[in-house]
Amino acid sequence: MDERLSLWGKIHKRWKESEFLSAHRVGFRLLKMVHETDSTVLPMNLLLICVNLAEVYGGLFLTSALIDSLLAADFRCGVLYALLLVVSDLVLGSIGEVLLKKVRTVQNRLWQIVYLWIAKKAISLDYETIQNPGAIRKLLSAERTCDMYGSVGIVVLNYGELLKAFLNILISVGLSLRLVLTRPAAGDIALLSGQEKGIGQAAVFLSMPGVSLLLFSAALAGMAFLSAHTAHKYAEKEKKFFQNHTGTEEKLTYLNNNIFFNYRAAKIIRIFGMQAMLLKNGERELNGMIRFYLRRIRTNREETVENLITSGLFNVFSYLLVVLKTISGAITVGAFTRYVGALNQFGSACASLIEYNAAIRRNAVYMGEFLAFLDVEEKHFHGTIPVEKRDDGEYELAFENVSFRYPGSAQYVLRNVNCRLDMKRKMAVVGRNGAGKTTFIKLLCGLYEPTEGRITLNGVDIRKYKPDEYRDLFGVVFQDFRLFSFPVWENVAAGYERDDDRLWRALRQAGAEEFVKQMPAGLETLLYKDTGEGVEISGGEAQKLAIARALYKDAGLVILDEPTAALDPLAEAEVYARFDEMTEGKTSIYISHRMSSCRFCDDIMVFDDGRIAERGSHENLLAVKGLYSQLWNAQAKYYA
Ligand code: ADP
Repeated sequence: MDERLSLWGKIHKRWKESEFLSAHRVGFRLLKMVHETDSTVLPMNLLLICVNLAEVYGGLFLTSALIDSLLAADFRCGVLYALLLVVSDLVLGSIGEVLLKKVRTVQNRLWQIVYLWIAKKAISLDYETIQNPGAIRKLLSAERTCDMYGSVGIVVLNYGELLKAFLNILISVGLSLRLVLTRPAAGDIALLSGQEKGIGQAAVFLSMPGVSLLLFSAALAGMAFLSAHTAHKYAEKEKKFFQNHTGTEEKLTYLNNNIFFNYRAAKIIRIFGMQAMLLKNGERELNGMIRFYLRRIRTNREETVENLITSGLFNVFSYLLVVLKTISGAITVGAFTRYVGALNQFGSACASLIEYNAAIRRNAVYMGEFLAFLDVEEKHFHGTIPVEKRDDGEYELAFENVSFRYPGSAQYVLRNVNCRLDMKRKMAVVGRNGAGKTTFIKLLCGLYEPTEGRITLNGVDIRKYKPDEYRDLFGVVFQDFRLFSFPVWENVAAGYERDDDRLWRALRQAGAEEFVKQMPAGLETLLYKDTGEGVEISGGEAQKLAIARALYKDAGLVILDEPTAALDPLAEAEVYARFDEMTEGKTSIYISHRMSSCRFCDDIMVFDDGRIAERGSHENLLAVKGLYSQLWNAQAKYYA
C-alpha cells in the first residue's frame, strides 16, 4: 500500500502520524476543553501576551528614535521620545502586572477543574468498566498526571508562551528582513585605505541584500533543523521513560492510602509483624521513583544545553550581521540598537519556541494518558425508555437463557438461566459458595450485561430502559456493602433527599434506631475516622445501617445478600422478625447461607454451578430430596 503512495502522499502520511502532530492534537483538545469550562482563561492569556509584546517593541522603537534624534541634535523630539518611553513603560508594565496576577489565579483554578473532570468521569463510568484493570490504570495515571506533572494549567502556560514566541518571531523576522534587505552605503568605504578598506569591502559584499538574505536563510534553516532534531530526540526519550515507569507511583499510592496511613490496617500489621516487610516494599518503590526523576532531570538538562547551543550560534550570527550592516553604512546607530534588540528578541523567541514546543510534546505524553481516561468507553448500552412508575409494584422480571462470564474470563459463571420473578413474594436464592448467586443479583440490577440471553422487565430487554430509572427499582444490601466516612443520615439517605421521618422509619425497620439514638450527634454523627473525629461501629451495626439504606430508597424490590452474616444470633432473630414489616408490599430476594432463613420465603431458587438446579417452596424442595434438602439437613444437624 505504502509503495503506491506518491512522495507527497508519503510525506503527508508521515506528517499525519507524526508525534509532533499528535502532541499538538492533545494540546489543542485540552485548550478547547479549558475554554468550554472557563471562557476567560484563554482570552486573558492572549491579552497578556499582546501587552508584553507591545511593551518590548514599543520600547525598541522609541529607544532607537530617541538615539537617532539625539545624534541629529533634535532635542525636542528626543525629550518627547524619552517621555513616551517612560509613560508607555509605566502603563504597559502596570497593566501587564495586573493581568499576570489574574492569569495566575485563573491558572491555579484549573487544577480544581481538572480534578472535577476526572472525578465526574470516574464516578459516571458504568460498573463493569470501572472494574476493568485497564480503566483503573488509566484513572490512576490521569490522577498522577495532574498531581505530579503539572496539569492543564501547564498546558495553557506552554501554549501561551508558544504563541508569544511565534508572534515575537513574526515581528522580529519582519524587522530582521528589513535589516537584511538594507543596502550598504559604499561611499564611506571608498575613503578607507589598506587592510581596513579590505574589511570594509568584505562588509559591503556580505551586507548586500541578496548575500545577507542567503546567509540569514541558511542560518534560520540550520537552527530550525537542529531544534527539530533535539525536540524529537527528547520527546522520544520521555515517552520511553513513561512507558518503562508505569506502576511505581500506583504502588506507592496504594501503600500510603491503604497501609501506612490507614488506621484499619494497623491491627494486622502489628499482629503479623509486617512493619519491616512493608517499609522494605515502600523503600523499593521510592528508590524506583527517585531513579526515574533523576533520569528525567538529567535529560531535561541535556535538552536545555543543546537548545542553548543552537540559539547561541544563531545569536552570534545575528550580531555579526548587524555589525556588518552598520560598518557598511546600511543602517544608522539608532537603527543598530533597534535591530540588535529585534534580533535579540528573535533569538530568545526561537529559543522559547523550541523550549515550549518540547515542553508541550513532553507534557503530551502524560496528558495523553489523562485524555485516554476521559475517553474510556462505557461498555453498557444506555437505553432511553423510561421505566413505568407503578404504585402497585406489579413488575414482571425474567431471565431468558442468560449465560454470563466476567469480562476477561473464559469461564461461564451462569449458564442458561431461565426464570420469572414473581412480584410481591418473598424469594430466596440459596446454593453453595461460588454457585453464582451474587452474580445473578448483579445481572438483575443491571451492573453487568448478560454475555448471552436477555433479562426483561415487563417483556422488554432491560438494556432498552434508562439505566438510572431501572436501578431505582432495587434496594440492595450486598455482602461487601460499604458505608462511607459521612454522617449517618448521608449514609442512609444516600442519593435521595433527606427526610428525617423516613430516615428514622428505615432505621427502626433495620433495627438500627436504638444505637443511632445513642450516638453522640444522632443522625449527624460522622462514621469512621477517615475524614475527622468519627465513631467506629461494629460489623453488625454497619450491616443494619446498610439495610436501612436499602429500605430508605423505598424501592419495589429489596435484595438482601447475606444480610445477617455480621449479626449476632439475637440481632439475626430480630431482623427475621421484622422481615415482614421491612418488605411489606414489596418483592424481596433473600440470599443466605443460613437455610433457616428460607422458611420465611414463598419461593426458593437453588443455584448449583451457575444453574438453577431446583425451585419451589421449602416443603416441596425438602420433599424432592435434592440439593436443597442436602443443604438443609447439613445445617439442621448443627441446630438439632
Ligand atoms: P456466590 O454468590 O454464589 O457465592 P458468586 O456469584 O459471588 O457466587 O461467584 C460465582 C463465581 O464467579 C465464583 O467462581 C467467583 O470466583 C466468580 N467471580 C465473582 N466475581 C468475579 C469477578 N468480578 N470477576 C471474575 N470472577 C468473579
